[in-house]
Amino acid sequence: MRAIIPVARFHPFLTSLFEKVGIRNMLKRVNKGESQMLNIGPHLSIAKGFKKAGEEALLVNANTFQFFTRNPRGGKAKALDQKDVDGLVVIMKEHHFAPLLAHAPYTLNMCSAKPEIREFAQMVFKEDLARLENLPCELYNFHPGNHLGQGVEKGIELILQILNDEIWEGQKTTVILETMSGKGTEIGRSFEELKTIIEGVTQKEKMGICIDTCHIYSGGYDIVGNLEAVLEDFDRIIGINYLKCLHLNDSMMPYNSHKDRHEKIGFGTLGVDTFQKIVTYPSLKGLPFFLETPQENTLDYKKEIDLLRSF
Ligand code: FE
Ligand code: FE
Ligand code: ZN
Repeated sequence: MRAIIPVARFHPFLTSLFEKVGIRNMLKRVNKGESQMLNIGPHLSIAKGFKKAGEEALLVNANTFQFFTRNPRGGKAKALDQKDVDGLVVIMKEHHFAPLLAHAPYTLNMCSAKPEIREFAQMVFKEDLARLENLPCELYNFHPGNHLGQGVEKGIELILQILNDEIWEGQKTTVILETMSGKGTEIGRSFEELKTIIEGVTQKEKMGICIDTCHIYSGGYDIVGNLEAVLEDFDRIIGINYLKCLHLNDSMMPYNSHKDRHEKIGFGTLGVDTFQKIVTYPSLKGLPFFLETPQENTLDYKKEIDLLRSF
């Protein structure tokens, strides 16, 4: 037997009032949730499009993601499909995404001793900046480079030539230098080196820093023993306002080893407590965090994200 459900019929004015109050309360809840929400996402492939990457981010409980602007080895970037990009924009708006992070290919070396390698780096950098003007992404991260025996000073001079050639006043993108572990002749192994680069850039307000937790720990910054002191150093040397995002990676390598091997959160030398401190640290609040941990499957990022959100 079917029950007959009486349908209450309200005056249209009352109905709209209930709706408004309901929506207002809902919005309040959403806003509260947003301000307390950790901004976190994994590194995702855009091989199947930007919209697909946005959908994948949602599947793992992320509200942002990082992507390579092109093949990590530095191949040609695919032409943008505006419909696909618009699809991502809709997802980002609906789900209150935090800023995305674009990552330049690893092969980009602005301070190589070989002119053809530097020319390639400049071409990629220029093209990526132009492309980002048409993407819903304001942060572009790159590895400062390897000076290959020319010395840090010469290396930074070469990096600055390209940055000052290509960064323009009106661009919407902030160019991000990543903190490096200091293997081989890597530049960006210390806060001082990064500071020197920023100092040399004409458009300083278009520059920022990404702290990679795995890299700085193996680079000799003890974020396990004294996170506070490391961040104070950062603030004193570079200025905390330049910190735009973090790469959250545990490390397979010991402190100060200058070796770069990422590990899953909680399974390496940094340990889960360090990540709890980082994601709840007052001066890091609201910044976007990106995972570059080794996972078999993209969906495995959900476990790490849920763990970090639980703190
Ligand atoms: Fe990187
Ligand atoms: Fe990184
Ligand atoms: Zn790394």
